Amino acid sequence: MSTEQPSSTPLFSELGLAAPILKAVQEAGYETPSPIQAKSIAPLLEGHDLLGQAQTGTGKTAAFALPLLSRINAKAKAPQMLVLAPTRELAIQVSEAIQSYARHLKGLHVLPIYGGQSMGIQLRQLQRNPQVIVGTPGRILDHIRRGTLKLGQLQSLVLDEADEMLRMGFIDDVETILKETPDERQVALFSATMPGPIHRVSKRYLKDPVEIRIESKTSTVDTINQRYWQVTGTHKLDALTRILEVENFDAMIIFVRTKNATTELAEKLEARGYSSSPLNGDMNQAAREKAIERMKKGKLDILVATDVAARGLDIERMSHVVNYDVPYDTESYVHRIGRTGRAGRKGEAILFISPREKRMLFAIEKATRQTITKMQLPSSEDIADRRVMQFNQQLSETIEAQDLAFFQNVINDYQQEHEADPLEVAAALAYLVQKTRPLKPVKHIQERPARRDRDERGGSDRNSRREVKSPRRTIGSAIRENEPGMQTYRIEVGRNHGAEIKNIVGAIANEAGIESKHIGRIGLQDSYSTVDLPEGMPKDLFQQLRKVWVCNKQLEISILNSGIDNQDSASDEFSTRRKPKRSGKPRTRARDKARRPSQRRSAKKSS
Ligand code: AMP
Repeated sequence: MSTEQPSSTPLFSELGLAAPILKAVQEAGYETPSPIQAKSIAPLLEGHDLLGQAQTGTGKTAAFALPLLSRINAKAKAPQMLVLAPTRELAIQVSEAIQSYARHLKGLHVLPIYGGQSMGIQLRQLQRNPQVIVGTPGRILDHIRRGTLKLGQLQSLVLDEADEMLRMGFIDDVETILKETPDERQVALFSATMPGPIHRVSKRYLKDPVEIRIESKTSTVDTINQRYWQVTGTHKLDALTRILEVENFDAMIIFVRTKNATTELAEKLEARGYSSSPLNGDMNQAAREKAIERMKKGKLDILVATDVAARGLDIERMSHVVNYDVPYDTESYVHRIGRTGRAGRKGEAILFISPREKRMLFAIEKATRQTITKMQLPSSEDIADRRVMQFNQQLSETIEAQDLAFFQNVINDYQQEHEADPLEVAAALAYLVQKTRPLKPVKHIQERPARRDRDERGGSDRNSRREVKSPRRTIGSAIRENEPGMQTYRIEVGRNHGAEIKNIVGAIANEAGIESKHIGRIGLQDSYSTVDLPEGMPKDLFQQLRKVWVCNKQLEISILNSGIDNQDSASDEFSTRRKPKRSGKPRTRARDKARRPSQRRSAKKSS
């Protein structure tokens, strides 16, 4: 096995990062730079502008944060780095990542700023003079206009997920912010796709940028059956344990991102009874070879590895590859799953993918020209069936292969002495044997739909296309009932304006401060859409929502409910914990249509 890095991949220590940053990277357990990091860090350190085509999951946050933090003067008390992100979730996530990379930079403050959070809190935090600010465009612009955020000393500006910002209608805000920054600042623009307007922004505001694109070569992997599990409410480790229970595997390799994760996960699996070992670049050659030998001989069943350590690994009995953490690019995916299906055998590949990483799934499907089928987690019943089957098998094997004369005598004596029913004795023995691993379902775990992957909500391109299929859920169907505790609203932006479900979720979440988990069903129509929000919206929030922009259109939100005046139903208190209420009579489409224009007018007047 070769565990060497290809000569083209530098080490983090060779990239010229500032010492405190390098230390944080090493502590994070990153072994080698991901492809986008290997290409971006040097030019950003040299002060170049950068145009990077990359998506979430490729390691792009570190790709810009590590070099830009290396150039910051933590003693200067003014914003030097600004990151614009499309959603508050991403802003928080990026700010946390930056904070962790900057942990050894004394005096450095990172501040997330997003819509929906109290202005007062943000003003106080801004007075602490953070050097790094990560925010959503609307709120950042707000602070610039109020004079509470001054960008005179800004060194670098990062546009993260620029195409998402475009889709969510923020591109004008982004341009206005760009105009407010000093001429000599450095700009890094990252986008998964390069639609025309993003290209124009890059032409207008980036100076001779270094262009980086992580090319994905097309590859096919015919002998491998590929599945994915959508990471939902169930914890990844619980999901993995369930899969391990029912999958018929000989040997398995599980890919994670960091060295630390290899040891942590291997230990947890050991504790759950699976013979497992980590495989990472920190282990010396001898230790790695030993683990591989044990695996080959069947003394070990699971390896938990990083990409680097598993490079070139060739073990014939490897039946399964699990991508516990998503790979950085399609090439690593193809390389990872190539650890199974060796020598013309069949192999199984399972990918764990979170809603945010869905794009990577599509990219992989495109690159491999194969569909990856969605899998459900095994239910408690599946697990019970499997355990009973294994128990029966063990029983048959023992009866066949063991000399049981002594035990037969013991049981015989017991039975006669206690006048016990032989079946009952056997059942008691089975209970004792399986005490720590009961044959009956432990507990029924129901998978919760992922926040951004509910069928009717979507959350990725693909999902928004397959939104609202069930007639009961469709706003266009004859009868539509609200979910308890939820109220259906109409918003004046729809497909014809270029809106997708995620734009609506993003705008409402960011600009009105409604946590996305409280945003219910969204029905995308051509000229308008509907959205379910918790009942009892306060008036000021309602007014704020009316003015929110999506795809260059204001939402002009109104209540979709017969006979209810917008203002009256907007209460002064906003609680999502109200007792569930059933909405009144079922509404028909015809009735909605009939009352809508006049109601909308009255809603506008009253607002
Ligand atoms: P991002 O694409 O920036 O959202 O990063 C995705 C995940 O990859 C995050 O959990 C990072 O901590 C992790 N990550 C980033 N760079 C590396 C690296 N070089 N090695 C291992 N993990 C990394």
